[in-house]
Amino acid sequence: MSDVFTREKRSAVMARIRGTGNKATELRLIALLRAARITGWRRNSTLFGKPDFVFPQHRLAVFVDGCFWHGCPLHATQPKQNAAFWHEKIARNQARDRLVTRTLRKAGWRVLRIWEHALTPKNHGRLFARLRQAGVMPHAPAPALTHALTARARGR
Ligand SMILES: [Zn+2]
Repeated sequence: MSDVFTREKRSAVMARIRGTGNKATELRLIALLRAARITGWRRNSTLFGKPDFVFPQHRLAVFVDGCFWHGCPLHATQPKQNAAFWHEKIARNQARDRLVTRTLRKAGWRVLRIWEHALTPKNHGRLFARLRQAGVMPHAPAPALTHALTARARGR
């Protein structure tokens, strides 16, 4: 299957995905944090690598990684046109992610990287388990909460 876009068009489309995609996933995580009554997080961090969320009291930096841009092993797609360009671009992003994680850890931060796909309702249980493990979750989510979140997400 060949790419339906010209090279220029593809770049524009991808730029838009990057711009709005990140925003959308961040907003989805915010909704989940609020629903789970998780507090103590800040956005717009100026830490190295600009984490999407930081929990200063827990010295925890959280990144939400888009499946395409960060090369998720499950969902990364490979644009056929300009394949070498995209392959290299995503490899660079991944190398950058590793550098950021390493640098923050050396500075005494814990780093939690969340895949975009972890925000889908069927993965909420696992996501909450990770947040609980990271120590930012006040209580285990009541079954009612998980149910409400799932219902809300399905309703959209
Ligand atoms: Zn994914």
